[in-house]
Amino acid sequence: MAISPAELAPIAQEVIEISSGIVAGLGQDLERISSISKDDRSPVTVADFSVQAIVGLHLKGCGVEEMIGEEDAEKLRENATLRSEVLATTQRVFPNATEDDVLEAIDSGCHEGGPTGTFWTLDPIDGTKGFLRGGQFALALGLVRDGIIELGLLGLPHWGIESDPSGGSVQSPGSVCMALRGSGAQGWALGSSDKHQLTVSDWSDDRPIRTCESVESGHTSHDASAKITDAFSAHEAVRLDSQAKYAVVASGAADAYLRLPTRPGYVERIWDHAGGALIATEAGAVVTDIHGNQLDFSQGRGLEKNKGVVCSVPGAHQRIIDRIREIGLG
Ligand code: AMP
Ligand code: MG
Repeated sequence: MAISPAELAPIAQEVIEISSGIVAGLGQDLERISSISKDDRSPVTVADFSVQAIVGLHLKGCGVEEMIGEEDAEKLRENATLRSEVLATTQRVFPNATEDDVLEAIDSGCHEGGPTGTFWTLDPIDGTKGFLRGGQFALALGLVRDGIIELGLLGLPHWGIESDPSGGSVQSPGSVCMALRGSGAQGWALGSSDKHQLTVSDWSDDRPIRTCESVESGHTSHDASAKITDAFSAHEAVRLDSQAKYAVVASGAADAYLRLPTRPGYVERIWDHAGGALIATEAGAVVTDIHGNQLDFSQGRGLEKNKGVVCSVPGAHQRIIDRIREIGLG
């Protein structure tokens, strides 16, 4: 790769900041948000398609052409109303973009990934259900080189880095988090240039453990997480959608993020973790799967070699993994 992750960082930052602002605006009028169901019955909205189009167009020609994006344009080709809304939203950033440009930019996210080469990972709206219920969601961008995440960004239009970093309440103006491998993680309020260093909590054994987990009981086992935290003097788990959970741990507002399989066979998607996992790691967290194995981003579009995720302060990580084994999960 000719261009370095450090050189790509400001390009990625710019598009996440612009897109986060646009989505924050769309989210203020949820009744008018057009949404359709994908084949897996999960929702996709004008915001998901528009962000993938804007990011695709912005990164075109930046030096890394490959992208693994969650969305593709197939459903949009069948829906003229939604297509024109996505075009209008994209044109707020790219006034000259045509419908074909937008469809092509969305479909540029079809890369297959793998162990070699450099590619972006994009979840344009991670936690679409959270977005639609006015809760937390994230615009998640990662850069993977030869299977290693080099750069991670989260646009978090409802997460207040200064006001309520637990993510339990919706805050405006929201925040952005970014990490470059080896350079730590930073977070700042959307629209501000005042960057804060992100550092995990100084949790120790004698304190209750504060955890966070998905709102959706289909995405993580709430029962299993209760059994795990029973081994600690537990604090109630905060439930929030999206990779905002990685930011919550990175900022020290929770000590662990648990993502515990609800059914055998589910493979975590690369775009649900690449951005956030690097931010948490650079802030000092340990991020593995439920067996304590490193997350392996070299397996294509899915984390085929892993099961679930445990992201925690170093002092609690092994105890969580041991407890997972004790309760026989996975
Ligand atoms: P969250 O907001 O943390 O609940 O995660 C949202 C993500 O969960 C979506 O982007 C989906 O890719 C992913 N997802 C869908 N089904 C499952 C499942 N059965 N287990 C874990 N994650 C899932
Ligand atoms: Mg997602």
